[in-house]
Amino acid sequence: MKIDHIGIAVKSIEKSKQFYEALGLEVSHIEVVEEQGVKTAFLKIGESNIELLEPLNESSPVFKFLEKRGGGIHHIAIEVKNIEKVLENLKEKGFKLINEKPVKGAHGKSVAFVHPKATGGVLLELCESK
Ligand code: ZN
Repeated sequence: MKIDHIGIAVKSIEKSKQFYEALGLEVSHIEVVEEQGVKTAFLKIGESNIELLEPLNESSPVFKFLEKRGGGIHHIAIEVKNIEKVLENLKEKGFKLINEKPVKGAHGKSVAFVHPKATGGVLLELCESK
């Protein structure tokens, strides 16, 4: 397992990426994920990534997050081998999940979110390695 990426909510990817590019990182992938209501940009950093998240519209969860907190770390994503099995195990142990079944995330990966109540206050994304 590894930290696949850290998701940061931003108002504008175009604007926010300028800082990370000035740091020396490069955008490796930009993708609209309709299912999650976001546009995402990935910047590779070591074996992980920074994922900038821009809301597509006002019903996007990221839009609500920006309204409430004005941006910042939105979630941490951990890569797992068998996401169905991990979800089953967490559910069985009574941990609160947002997605009990995997949904489609960026890069066409299977992802699922775990409720902050289960993790100590952090929104956690599980994503399956490819
Ligand atoms: Zn993510």
